[in-house]
Amino acid sequence: YVSVVLFTADLRLHDHPPLRAALDGPGAVVPLFVRDRGVADAGFAAANRLAFLADCLRDLDAGLRERGGRLVVRSGDVVEEVCRVAGEADADEVHMAADASGYARRREQRLRRALEAAGRRLHVHETVTTAVAPGAVTPASSDHFAVFTPYFRQWSGQPLRDVLRAPRSVRVPPGIGSEELPSRAALPGISPGLAEGGERAGRKRLAAWLRSGLAGYADRHDDLAGDATSRLSPHLHFGTLSPVELVHRARRAGGPGAEAFVRQVAWRDFHRQVLAARPGAAGADYRTRHDRWRSERTAREDIEAWREGRTGYPVIDAAMRQLRHEGWMHNRARLLTASFLAKTLYVDWRVGARHFLELLVDGDLASNQLNWQWVAGTGTDTRPNRVLNPVAQAGRHDPDGRYVRRWVPELSGVPGGAVHEPWKLTGPDRAGVGAYPDPVVGLAEGLARFKRARSRG
Ligand code: FAD
Repeated sequence: YVSVVLFTADLRLHDHPPLRAALDGPGAVVPLFVRDRGVADAGFAAANRLAFLADCLRDLDAGLRERGGRLVVRSGDVVEEVCRVAGEADADEVHMAADASGYARRREQRLRRALEAAGRRLHVHETVTTAVAPGAVTPASSDHFAVFTPYFRQWSGQPLRDVLRAPRSVRVPPGIGSEELPSRAALPGISPGLAEGGERAGRKRLAAWLRSGLAGYADRHDDLAGDATSRLSPHLHFGTLSPVELVHRARRAGGPGAEAFVRQVAWRDFHRQVLAARPGAAGADYRTRHDRWRSERTAREDIEAWREGRTGYPVIDAAMRQLRHEGWMHNRARLLTASFLAKTLYVDWRVGARHFLELLVDGDLASNQLNWQWVAGTGTDTRPNRVLNPVAQAGRHDPDGRYVRRWVPELSGVPGGAVHEPWKLTGPDRAGVGAYPDPVVGLAEGLARFKRARSRG
């Protein structure tokens, strides 16, 4: 009896229901990862994520080898490759995790049909990539929640399954060929400050977070310079950490920090249940406000300035440069930069979402597209016309300007909060800011344009 375990966005050995189900069977297991051609064809294979993925695959293979097994890696169309490997191993069944996107669900359906035609079964497991499955809680009148607070209330009341231990041993049948594992060293265009991938790195970060970050999270999560969030997002995206385990362990730690943190993890599930019910929301407005956005063609220079971190608004520029340097950005900074593009510059949110997906190591269809829509006011936000003022926000979340000075060296000589409004500097202070640009647009002007646009709708 042979089972194939198809790893997708769940690159771990701890708390892995598909692997556990396969190992509970009587025979051998083929742990398989397919480098999906469809993901690359869809333009979703960004350098930072490929590099993080390479770390994850190497670590998964190492973990399997310690247990007597190994990882089989193939490339191509997932359905064809899984069927091929299942044929080579004469497998009876395939186990995999459920995923929310339209692409993942179509892939699952195709796989099920192809396997069944060959007399094999497909088992799809929930609560591998989410803590609570999409669709497990629904409001009375719809197939999904469009507002977070009532969703969270029900989400919090859901019983969580127990955390599964990593297996002690894995027996892989002989003779199944594998490609060489990818390596980040061979990949061009990676952000210099990119975090390390893999389950081991994820578990180390989680342990450190529970020990010394979680307790202060409620008070400090918006402090840009303090960098006091978990940075677990890439591990959640690639599934090197399990959301179920994360919630269990945070709840066990307890306190206001844990409560606030668990709420954020629920936001991740929330967006997934929206995407599962409305797959089109990855590209089209979830709720139209009849925007006639400025586009790549009509706002080219503003978009370039935003992408490159030279809008003349220091907190925006700091954040955009952090994104390029680390492949990651603080949540508050994501809110500010997204609001600035979509509302102050009135550029189509899809232009910004695409740029984020090109760089973010945690770049994720559900979280990215739906957070962008939330900010643009076309998503699930209940205040669609709110505009974040980058200067006021910088004063609140980077009061002494440390975050800006870290990322914008042109302003490193400007002390304190004055760094947020370099256009107000005079005399020698002004001369000190050198090549730092003037604002691309006045805030009042941007706000007026946005209000006009939305009142037209
Ligand atoms: P923490 O504050 O430690 O939160 C813990 C975890 O909760 C995160 O790792 C993440 O998995 C989840 N989480 C927190 N906030 C959110 C949220 N608003 N929506 C969904 N999940 C959340 N997150 C992504 O994982 N991938 C993306 O592509 C992504 N794009 C975004 C785009 C925009 C415009 C905005 C405003 C937010 C985006 N987020 C995205 C959400 C959030 O900014 C990141 O999850 C967070 O900054 C990651 O840092 P952290 O792990 O330190 O978060």
